[in-house]
Amino acid sequence: MKTYWHPKQMQIAPELHPAFRPERVERHIVLLLNPFYPKDPRASFGKHVLTPTLALTSLAAATPPEWEVRYWDENLLQGPPPCEPFPQVVGITVHLTFAKRAHALAEWYRARGAIVILGGLHVQSCPDEAVRHADAIAIGNGVILWPQILRDIDRNCLQKVYRAGYENSFDAEPFPMRDLLPRRSFLTTTSLIATRGCKNRCTFCYLATSKIRMPYRCRRVRQVALEFVMDDQPYAVFTDNNLGSDPEYLRQLCQALRPLEKIWSAAVSLDVTDDPSLVREMALAGCTGVFVGFETLSNENLHETNKKNTPAPKEYSRRVDIFHQNGIQVNGSFVFGFDHDTPEVFEQTADWIERNRLECATFHILTPYPGTPLFRQFEQEGRLLHKNWELYDTAHVVFRPKLMSAETLEEGYGWCYQRLFSHRSIWRRRPQDVKAIAPYLAMSYLYKRSNWLWKFLIEHQLTALVWRPIVEWTRRRHVKFRRQLASTPKIAQEQTVIVPVSPGV
Ligand code: SF4
Repeated sequence: MKTYWHPKQMQIAPELHPAFRPERVERHIVLLLNPFYPKDPRASFGKHVLTPTLALTSLAAATPPEWEVRYWDENLLQGPPPCEPFPQVVGITVHLTFAKRAHALAEWYRARGAIVILGGLHVQSCPDEAVRHADAIAIGNGVILWPQILRDIDRNCLQKVYRAGYENSFDAEPFPMRDLLPRRSFLTTTSLIATRGCKNRCTFCYLATSKIRMPYRCRRVRQVALEFVMDDQPYAVFTDNNLGSDPEYLRQLCQALRPLEKIWSAAVSLDVTDDPSLVREMALAGCTGVFVGFETLSNENLHETNKKNTPAPKEYSRRVDIFHQNGIQVNGSFVFGFDHDTPEVFEQTADWIERNRLECATFHILTPYPGTPLFRQFEQEGRLLHKNWELYDTAHVVFRPKLMSAETLEEGYGWCYQRLFSHRSIWRRRPQDVKAIAPYLAMSYLYKRSNWLWKFLIEHQLTALVWRPIVEWTRRRHVKFRRQLASTPKIAQEQTVIVPVSPGV
């Protein structure tokens, strides 16, 4: 088996000094923390610094003005969070895979006199676990709860548990406070969100967790466009679970983004290609890439995921062509370990990705998140191997697969990354348009074959600098392409193959 370079900074969280004691706790200073999580050396280290989480910048924006906000993301490899001045309040976002680190940070700050508030998806699905490590927990929409929590701290009447749903329209929520972010540390600081929730409810998705109720909501499109303009970056990443959940909304959003002459990418489900004119609108609005959850090439597996309204696997190739014909590159997401997967699944999937020239692919080992139907099923069947949440990161096998061993599953997952990141595979998937090959290769080599470089780039805050030429190159080419696309009548476009332009970012 191939051994990978895995520096300790990518594996182990920075040390918290046990002997440190603050001289005093600084009133009205709040520190917002994104805890460290280990990085899989088989995948790209670069994917962790594409764009910041919106959780903390949204909380920062909802903070009452009398509080001073500090921000720290441990994954930017700048060491442990700062403790001078020592904050009165520490807010930590908690996800399954870094729950242990979040709890360690919480204990460290509490032992030194800070008030610690935990929130995030894992707190919502496992509140009993989180409450043991915090002065208070926020279950649900933190943007609503945060000002109330800080007011209660001021009045000395902090409660243990705060709850809010996601039923509100999120038009009234303030724009995330991006000034706090180290702009040089991300490909782009413009992470946007236009919709919340998803009309699907796949059995393995965290949105299917019994304790999470996130009704589908959309923001006003002009507000989204304004936020994009205000951050003054050429490229944005939509962090929506599925930007294509409501096609009519997506069409309106595209019309609002079109005049900006910027580029963006988003996760969408494959059914957006039901109407090729919608994909054309996306391209005309600056969409250069989509992240698509194909999940599996097997009908039986797809049926068991409960993913509705999605085309059958035999349709996938034609749908990928629709994106490519509109200059949109495809990052396909595939899950291994479903009950109908045999050891052949890895090679079949890699062959399919190469045949269809997917510019990028992301692999996941099927992971039953606590509270999901899949978790309950595996628990009832006695197939869970353990409940060590740190390993529930989609890179480790945490259950007993049906038609192969756990070792075969984990090796097959690693083999897929190795094959797709190989020179040969990158070359096989090059775009048909010769002019698009150079930016495609630049993007591929930086993203997929530069883990040896990423640690240095992240530590020295060079992420934005190395990406910037590729982003700007892609944006300029895309603006030209859009003009050409806009002048091509829809009918003609359906009959001719438009030259793909996007491969870049
Ligand atoms: S389509 Fe995607 S976001 Fe929606 S429920 Fe399924 S996996 Fe989750």
